[in-house]
Amino acid sequence: MSAELLKGKPIADGMIEELKKEIENLKEKHKVTPSLASVLVEGDPASKSYAGRQQKSAAKVGIEYQLHELPSDISQQKLIDFIAEINKDDNVNGIILQMPLPDGIDSYRVQSTIAMKKDVEGITPANMGLIVYDRPRLCPCTALGAIKMVEASGVDIYGKDLTVVGRSAIVGRPAALLMLQRKYSATTTICHTGTAKSGKLPEHVGRADILIVAAGSPELVKGEWVKEGSVVVDVGFNWIDGKTVGDVEFEVAKERAAYITPVPGGVGPLTVAILLQNTVEATKWQME
Ligand code: NAD
Repeated sequence: MSAELLKGKPIADGMIEELKKEIENLKEKHKVTPSLASVLVEGDPASKSYAGRQQKSAAKVGIEYQLHELPSDISQQKLIDFIAEINKDDNVNGIILQMPLPDGIDSYRVQSTIAMKKDVEGITPANMGLIVYDRPRLCPCTALGAIKMVEASGVDIYGKDLTVVGRSAIVGRPAALLMLQRKYSATTTICHTGTAKSGKLPEHVGRADILIVAAGSPELVKGEWVKEGSVVVDVGFNWIDGKTVGDVEFEVAKERAAYITPVPGGVGPLTVAILLQNTVEATKWQME
């Protein structure tokens, strides 16, 4: 039997409609228009077009989007100084630092200087730390998107075996930590390159009632490893011969899983919606 597809767009559309109402309310009752400052160090055409898409989506929901384009030869200190300025600016509710940064700039060092309450990508050590303490506020957008897809399946997560493949700071690791929250209480395994080397990846994948894969390796997870009746969320986004391919061997996996995200069209469309939602959350946090 073929799995039910978990598509991101209808969920993102629903979130956008909710956000519109919430932003209208913030404007009417509190005279506040959430605003998002996007810091783009010039040099990467892909991140420029990504920022353009964010700007369009922000306009749709009524969020003000300020694009700050900085020269590609900017020093790390100048970039940190710029962020310090917008941290202080009361007209800025959210800050997004577009990646990648030019060689020679330590992205962790720069990201860490973003004010906690304006960190709409949830990437500062302070916001990551809140997840560890089971008190998340602003969470990494794609990790949260993966969780939303699992929730969209309607499957009861509590006590289930979850395997996350990938341990990056923006996807795999926070997704696993979010699923450890008491409200989900998934029994969580995190796999990474060390697991692959040990040859135990099929075993950990095969045990998973819920599988989240964010490895950036095309069809790394073979369909035959996937547990029958499981929920499979494939975050992977790889270009192969002009086609987008996920990290899971979709055609085989969909015959075993109960729910599966397609690539493209799964987690991807949720990321921008969550960024906008985080901007509203940040605005409200600043008003507390
Ligand atoms: P990353 O390269 O930072 O991290 C990949 C992780 O996977 C690493 O922790 C590594 O240990 C693990 N890994 C790599 N190869 C492995 C293997 N063979 N076996 C086991 N583990 C392995 O990548 P990332 O930023 O976390 O992104 C992961 C994927 O998600 C990429 O394909 C990326 O394009 C995609 N992504 C999609 C969105 C979106 O849809 N909006 C957003 C972010 C990332």
